[in-house]
Amino acid sequence: MRFFDPHIHMTSRTTADFEAMAAAGIRAVIEPAFWLGQPRTTIGAFVDYFASLVGWERFRASQFGIQHYCAIGLNSKEANNEALAREVLEVLPRFALKEGVVAIGEIGYDEITDAEERAYEAQLQFALEHDMVVMVHSPHRDKKRGILRSLDVARNVGVPMEKLVIDHNNEETVEDTLGRGAWAAFTIYPHTKMGSERMAQVVEKYGPERIIVDSSADWGVSDPLSVPKTAKLMLERGIDPEWVTLTTWQNALDVYAQSGQIDVDALLAEPVIDQSRLFNDNSVLRGQEPRVDETVPN
Ligand SMILES: [Zn+2]
Repeated sequence: MRFFDPHIHMTSRTTADFEAMAAAGIRAVIEPAFWLGQPRTTIGAFVDYFASLVGWERFRASQFGIQHYCAIGLNSKEANNEALAREVLEVLPRFALKEGVVAIGEIGYDEITDAEERAYEAQLQFALEHDMVVMVHSPHRDKKRGILRSLDVARNVGVPMEKLVIDHNNEETVEDTLGRGAWAAFTIYPHTKMGSERMAQVVEKYGPERIIVDSSADWGVSDPLSVPKTAKLMLERGIDPEWVTLTTWQNALDVYAQSGQIDVDALLAEPVIDQSRLFNDNSVLRGQEPRVDETVPN
């Protein structure tokens, strides 16, 4: 089986993770812009981060046969530094329209403050103007209130629900998200909160339509193999393989391909790895022999 992990922060992961992910069948990832565990202090830190998401990280993933897309946005936590937030919103257009950017995200609420709402609204407006998909982060505390407000504000701005992905759902929010017509993504956390078992139960109860599984793996305790592991568990529990494909591959592809940034035919082909390639004169190798796959002639 092939898998799509549409929310993972590969910047924080190692090359061993890339190898394990490729071996487990993960063919594509989306890396949304996020905070780094501590606040950035200057606009330059954001600029360099966004540049790495559309540049080096995209290249790095390709060296392991994984197609890397990203979402660009000002995360909710750092929206609370309003002076810096204004500068970030000014530079966003420079990155949000680049190749491989499939959405604005992850944006939304963390503490559900007025400053977060202002940044969220401004970015929804940008997404609407540029006909982009939006990936919404939901708060870990007060999640239901945060998700309802995210949905209300997106609707008021006029973002079409088929272009809105609400992430980090759970059993208490899934009906609200699906009921409004948005896509409901679920993050599988290895030890707490939403685990693979609970995810399987959600799919059994609600079916596969507009439901998406992701890992949100980052610099914290998290598992970059959450998507294939959850697929395996769903199959073991007797869930229809077609439903498993929808929730771990096809739905993510369908919603984010609306960006026009995903070459679906290329993604369906066997990945061809060429580690002799360089990015700005740099390679992921440290003197090792590069792996260079032969391209299959048409
Ligand atoms: Zn995230």
